[in-house]
Parts: sequence; structure tokens; C-alpha cells
Amino acid sequence: MKVLVINAGSSSLKYQLLDTASQEVLAKGLCERIGIDGKFTYKAPGKETIDAKDVAMPTHSEAIQAVLDALVDPANGVVGSMKEIEAVGHRVVHGGETFARSVRIDGKVMAALEECIPLAPLHNPANITGIKACTAVMGPDVPQVAVFDTAFHQTMPPVAYTYALPYEYYEQDKVRRYGFHGTSHKYVTQRAADMLGKPIEALKLISCHLGNGSSIAAVAGGKSVDTSMGFTPLAGLPMGTRSGDLDAGILEYLMNKHGMDIKEMLGVLNKKSGVQGVSGVSSDFRDLCAAAEDGNGRAALALDLFSYGVKKYIGAYAAAMGGVDAIIFTAGVGENDAQQRMAIASGLEFMGVKMDADANNIRGKEAIISAIDSKVKVLLIPTNEELMIALDTAELA
Ligand code: ADP
Repeated sequence: MKVLVINAGSSSLKYQLLDTASQEVLAKGLCERIGIDGKFTYKAPGKETIDAKDVAMPTHSEAIQAVLDALVDPANGVVGSMKEIEAVGHRVVHGGETFARSVRIDGKVMAALEECIPLAPLHNPANITGIKACTAVMGPDVPQVAVFDTAFHQTMPPVAYTYALPYEYYEQDKVRRYGFHGTSHKYVTQRAADMLGKPIEALKLISCHLGNGSSIAAVAGGKSVDTSMGFTPLAGLPMGTRSGDLDAGILEYLMNKHGMDIKEMLGVLNKKSGVQGVSGVSSDFRDLCAAAEDGNGRAALALDLFSYGVKKYIGAYAAAMGGVDAIIFTAGVGENDAQQRMAIASGLEFMGVKMDADANNIRGKEAIISAIDSKVKVLLIPTNEELMIALDTAELA
């Protein structure tokens, strides 16, 4: 089935057209600066790449129309007509407690998505806009499916998702750990079971999604049982620019000292912290490695802070699951940064993790990077959220 996968942001829209039978990407690209001055890119194997500026895109509807026009274009398109696109899969950030799996979108689902807006005020409205734009341009008969970042983690037990706050904040205000990157954690843990040749039901896995945003998930028997992100994606590990967990008492102290309001404080925690904040150099691990090699102590500290944070979660989740069969590295840093992977895994020999330095010297390819006699396997698995969304969509459509 040919499925169009859409990831809509407030002023951007990423798209991929996938064939779920061959798992091939037929075309992909990005609409940016929607509502401003419209930028459009399109790439398809063997076709001319489009990189256009000043494309009229006052709303997401024109952006979707531009995508469809490119896909059916007689010269550079990849389908004969719009009818060949049999379904659309949307990445939706927050499904709250309502959605524990992907769903076919209808009026009821749209109403429930609107109800989830307060939980993700920056993301969900954009996702909803993307869905409405597809309905407007493609008509109501093309099946559309919502795939949630939070859904995979809905299997967490109360002991993992409850915050030690007055319980009514959970009951009335829905404050709990939700977790994110669920589509990625689900995809790589399924691939891990395939690579290990074991049923996922029999495996205890720790999935490390380490990118600009990073999260770790403990996955036992194919189900997420704990994860490092929380009520929002600000929690857990130090990230590119996000602080991760910290003592909430720091907020009042810094706000008073520097006359910041809560919005400014959260701006600092989301955009000026993490490895960027500590190093003062960059949020990009390539820049940090280069700076650390040049003797920049704060860049080295930022890198150490990150690998130490990941290592602690691995220990914690092995304890939570009563063991671990494999540790998975994925996303930008996890797939590309051999030094970080080594720093994270070294020192874990006591729990049966033994790396193979040669095997670890690899980027962006599925591989077992632990030593043959390592009790706990360490795997590199490039994530593929779009494929996961397309497969869920095809199944439900
Ligand atoms: P996002 O969370 O935005 O999806 P990605 O998963 O694409 O992020 O990860 C992006 C990050 O991956 C970059 O900021 C960079 O730090 C890191 N990265 C990418 N390539 C490399 C590399 N070759 N070596 C080290 N880090 C890399």
C-alpha cells in the first residue's frame, strides 16, 4: 500500500510517501515557513530534486496541495494520480491516556485530539491542522490514521508513571509520566527481537534514543514499562538544549535572583540548557567532540554529563526489569557517535556488557556492537519512525 506519512509542525510539514509492501521510500521532503514565505523541498530516487523558495503557502492546506502536486507531477512525480495514495498516517505528539495505540481518524477521534491539546499546547494543534488540511485537499474518503508519540508508553504500570504529588493532580489534571519517542522505541525494539532471533515477549530491552531530544525506555516483553521523559519532553536526560531532570527548587531560586518569569525560566530550561548550556559551545555532538579534542574542558564535561546520565538510566532500568538482554542505540547521536556509545557502555562490565571496539566503529547501520561473549548484547539500530507510522497506517486503513 502507498501511504503518505505527515509530520506537521506549526510552520513546517515533513512528508514521505512509502510503499509498505517493499518498505521503500518513494519520495520525501519538507514544507517550511508555512504562513510566512513558503519553502518547498522534494526528493525522489531518480527524479529531479525540487528546492523552491517563495511558494505560496499561506496555510497547511496549500502545503499539502504542493506535496500532492509534486507526487503526481508527470515528469518528476512517483504516482500516476492521487488515487494511488491509499492512506495518510499522521505523527501526533500527545495522545494522553485516551490513545494506547494508533487509530483511524474520525469525528470522535478529532474531538479527543482536541481534548489532548492542553497536554501538548505547542505540538498537538499543528498535528490537528495537518489532519484537517489533508481532509480538505484529499477529501473525506481517504483513510487517515493518527500515530502517537505517547501511545507505546501507555503500558507503563502506575508505579512508573505516578509522580509523588497530591494524587488529585493526576486524577483531575492528568499530571503523570507519559513518555515520548514511542514510535521510535517500538520500532527499534521490534527490530532488536528480529536481529536477536528471539520472540520479543521473551526479551528485556533498554532502548536509548539519543538525538537532539533524548529518551530511554525499558521494554519488557515488547511493552514499555518505564521511560525517562515525563509529563513533557523536558524530563530525563540532559539533551541538546534541554536540561532534563533537575531539582524543582532551582526554579524559584533562579527566577527570584534574575527576575525571570516562568515563561523565561522554561525558555532557559528548554532552549539554553543541556549540553549547549554546559559547554557554551553547541548542542551538536560533533561540535562538542571537536571542541573537547581541542582541550575545551566544558565541552568535555557536557559530553561526560550526557554519557553518565545514560549509563545511570541503563543501570536503573536493568534493576527495574530484573535484568537486561540487550541495549539498543538509535537516533542521531546513538547511530553515529561511536565515542559516546563506548563511554556509555564502558564500566557496565559488572552487569555483563562487553563492547567490541572494532564492531562499534560503525555509523548508521544495523549491527551488533558488543563482543561475542558479551552476556548483554549491544545493538545499533537506525530508527525509522516514518516506516512504523506507514505500517500502522496500512494495517488500520
Ligand atoms: P532529533 O531529535 O532532532 O530528531 P536526531 O536524532 O536527528 O535529532 O539527532 C541529531 C543530533 O545527532 C545532532 O544534534 C548531533 O548532535 C548528532 N549527530 C549527528 N551525526 C553525528 C555524528 N556523526 N557524530 C556525532 N553526533 C552526531
